Amino acid sequence: MNAAIDRAGALNGRLNAFTQIFDSPGAPRPGPLSGMPVAIKENICTRRGLSTAGSRILEGYRSPFDATAVARLLDAGAVVIGKTNLDEFGMGSSTEHSPHGPTRNPWDLDRVPGGSSGGSASAVAAGIVPVALGSDTGGSIRQPAALCGLVGLKPTYGRVSRYGLIAYASSLDVIGPISRTVTEAARVLQVIAGPDEHDSTCSKRPVPDLLTSLESPVENLRIGLVRSMLSGANHPAVNQAIEASAARLADAGATIVDVDLLDPDIAIATYYIVAPAEASSNLARFDGVRYGRRAAIPNDASLDDLYRASRTEGFGPEVRRRIMLGTHVLSSGYYDAYYLRALKARRLIRNDFDRAFDTHALHALLMPVTPGPAFRIGEKDKDPLALYLEDVYTVGVSLAGLPAIAMPAGMTEGNKPLPIGVQLVARPFDEPTLLRVARTLERLSPPMNFPA
Ligand code: GLN
Repeated sequence: MNAAIDRAGALNGRLNAFTQIFDSPGAPRPGPLSGMPVAIKENICTRRGLSTAGSRILEGYRSPFDATAVARLLDAGAVVIGKTNLDEFGMGSSTEHSPHGPTRNPWDLDRVPGGSSGGSASAVAAGIVPVALGSDTGGSIRQPAALCGLVGLKPTYGRVSRYGLIAYASSLDVIGPISRTVTEAARVLQVIAGPDEHDSTCSKRPVPDLLTSLESPVENLRIGLVRSMLSGANHPAVNQAIEASAARLADAGATIVDVDLLDPDIAIATYYIVAPAEASSNLARFDGVRYGRRAAIPNDASLDDLYRASRTEGFGPEVRRRIMLGTHVLSSGYYDAYYLRALKARRLIRNDFDRAFDTHALHALLMPVTPGPAFRIGEKDKDPLALYLEDVYTVGVSLAGLPAIAMPAGMTEGNKPLPIGVQLVARPFDEPTLLRVARTLERLSPPMNFPA
């Protein structure tokens, strides 16, 4: 614990992974994770320190309670050593949209760690903590994990309680671990998952044992390879990592089956209607009166002036853009054409995954996480659409609510090689199979040489 705190202090000036470091950890409780130092994304509430979701509108906010996932980690003996940087409210893929400034990727300090859980990924890749919690609405655990050479586990929607997760898009949001190994991810999911009376959307299904089965070989493994996603628009190392992973799984005795899925552009279009719509509704509470930082206004100003001033000052440009998009697609006259249509498309996307799994009797799907490796800080800053396209392979899985894992599978070439990830996707609530397939692939993949 002390080594983790020291390392965080030594490296954070360069990485900006942590928004806060807690220096006196206290004695850990006994339990399966006793003494394990962990970091928590700042949109997840902790009684200790601040929980601002990276937004000025929540400046100085202290939560009176721990999120269920955090409370369960503490009960299991883990020790929270700090809170991590993120894109404001989780909206972004680069951890550049934060009042704390951008977080840096330990593999190359001029590059982004991905986002929105970029602070959590940077902290794990830098060897500060073995595990950090992130949240994933459309890729925010998987994409930073891929860009930092890590394992990022997005559980099935409803597998982990959202109680204490500051809402972005409630029908998509889920908490999960970012770690260096599949086993660590499984250990943490085992602790944080399961029913919670504080979240009515949290599944009542009991959580199976994820650890004993982890090392047992998956018999007659059937893996669907989504070949249409090996696009020429991807960085060549992405397509190579997929081919190499398929070959490794085939060596392990798996049958690789080519499968088709709907064009991922449909998922992007659908996600960027559904997520902003829900965000505009969730963020309506921050009015500077009941919730959120209040702007200073003249005495004769109206209530509308107060709302306008508080929300304009409190939200960053990307969040304002999402609120405007979301408000538009929900407004009368546009609701049917955009929002309702997106909900129908979402159902088709889920049906399409179900069909792929059923017709080929698959254990998992193999696909890319991102079109390329970590990009330079500032590279996609000016073009929101370019940043949205970073999510092309992750948002469909989120809309379908399926469990997925990103894991390292290769490196780019050149004098500053960067990690490349691949994504495995399983059926709803089948985390045991997802983790066993991932562990099988991990055993056959070359180890990552993390920067010192
Ligand atoms: N990049 C996506 C977005 O901006 C996903 C973010 C997330 O999963 N929180 O919405």
